Amino acid sequence: MVKRTGYWILGAAIVVGVVLVIVNFAVVRHWLAVHTGTVNETGPYYGFWSGFGSDIGEATLIGAVSVGVYTGARKVNCHAKGCWRIGHHPLEGTPYHLCKHHHPDVPVEGASIEHILGQHKKFKDALAAAQGDQPVS
Ligand SMILES: [Zn+2]
Repeated sequence: MVKRTGYWILGAAIVVGVVLVIVNFAVVRHWLAVHTGTVNETGPYYGFWSGFGSDIGEATLIGAVSVGVYTGARKVNCHAKGCWRIGHHPLEGTPYHLCKHHHPDVPVEGASIEHILGQHKKFKDALAAAQGDQPVS
């Protein structure tokens, strides 16, 4: 009941606000012109472009940064839910990319050259077995 009354009060306030804007449209228009810098200047749009309109470039910048953050957060990071690390390592046989903490074959503390060469030899042996050759010595 209290929630419903709140909605009625909010709706009535919006209606009153719209009516006040319509009744005082000239005043609102003048206020908007002063605050966007489009009144009392040398040319009709000089004040706009050197005032309020110059923020359009900043909006573009903010948009570009937002797209970059979205891309980083949704597309580049590890596919394990809740993990913010970058997913550098594709998990074979799946469409997923994982960070070194979640990938089963990547050591967390960094790979030694022996581990890397061992993985490479395993790959070459699997390739040779698939082609019906002898394993690489
Ligand atoms: Zn991860």
